[in-house]
Amino acid sequence: MSTGPEHEAPRRARWSEIKAALEMAGFEPSRTLGQNFLVDENMLRAIVRDARIEPGELVLEIGPGAGVLTAQLLAAGAKVIAVEIDERLAQFSREFLGEERVQWIVRDALEGKHALAPELLAALPQSGPWKLVSNLPYSAGTPILAALARLPNPPRSATVLLQKDLALRLAAEPGSKTYGAISARLQAVYAIEHLRDLGPQLFWPRPQVDSSLLRLELRAERPSAALLSDLDRLLDTLFSQRRKTIRNRLAEHFGSGEEAERLCALVGLDPLLRPEDVGHGPWISLLRSRTTDR
Ligand code: SAM
Repeated sequence: MSTGPEHEAPRRARWSEIKAALEMAGFEPSRTLGQNFLVDENMLRAIVRDARIEPGELVLEIGPGAGVLTAQLLAAGAKVIAVEIDERLAQFSREFLGEERVQWIVRDALEGKHALAPELLAALPQSGPWKLVSNLPYSAGTPILAALARLPNPPRSATVLLQKDLALRLAAEPGSKTYGAISARLQAVYAIEHLRDLGPQLFWPRPQVDSSLLRLELRAERPSAALLSDLDRLLDTLFSQRRKTIRNRLAEHFGSGEEAERLCALVGLDPLLRPEDVGHGPWISLLRSRTTDR
C-alpha cells in the first residue's frame, strides 16, 4: 500500500523537548486525570506495531495527552480521532502535531459514568473497520472499553495500555480469583491477549503501579445486541454475590430454583459452581436457549 507523501511522518520531537515545552507553558500533570505520559520512543513504536495499523486506517485514540503516541499513529499512516479532556494538552498536541489527519474532540470521552460522549458517538463510523489504540486514563479505562464493546460497530481491535491489575482482570481465565463480570462482558466479544508489562520508569511522571499492554481482537461470531444486553443483566446478578452458587444466582435472576436447575442441566453446568468458575460461553448458550424457548 502507498506510503507516499500523504503518509510522511509528522513533526517528531524528543521527549525531553516536549517536557521542556510543557513545563515552559506552566503545565503540571494531573493525577486525577491519569496524566502519566509514555516517554519511551521504542515502546511507543512497539505499541503501534502491535496494533497492526494499515495506511489510511481510522484509529480512535482516547487521551492523546502530549501527542507522542498520536505522532506514531500518524507516522504509520492512520487517520486519528483524538479525544482529550484537558484543553491545554489538546492545544499543545495540535500545535506539536500540526497535522490534518486528526479529528479533535476536546472533552471527556464519557458522558456520565458509563456512556460515551455524544460527540464521540457521532464521529465514529456506523460501518466499516476501525481500531482503538490508547494509553488509557486509568480511572476511565473500564467504562470506556465496556461502552466501546457494546457499540453496533465496535472497534475491530483495541491495543490498550492499562493499569496492570485491571489488565490482568480483563484477560483473566474463568476459575481465577480475578475473573469477574467485566472479564466476561469483554471476552464475550473480544479475544484478549496480554502482550507485555511496562514498568513505571517508562512514564513521566512515574505512576505508582505497573502497566500492561493488552490486545483485544473482535470475535468473528458475536452475540446479537439483544443477547449482549441480556448477558450484561445476567452478569450483574451473578457477580453481585460471587461467593454464592450459580444455582442461587440463577434462581434469583430467573425467579425459581427449578428453572435454575433446568438451565444448568441444559448447558451442562454443575449448579454448585460459583460465578467466577464459568466463562461467557455457557451463559450465552443458556440465554440463547431461553430466547428460542419463548
Ligand atoms: N497518550 C498519552 C501518552 O501515551 O503519553 C497520554 C496518556 S495519559 C495515561 C491519559 C490521557 O487521558 C491524559 O492526556 C488525560 O488528560 C486524558 N484523559 C483523562 N481522562 C479522560 C477522559 N475521561 N476522556 C478523555 N481523555 C481523558
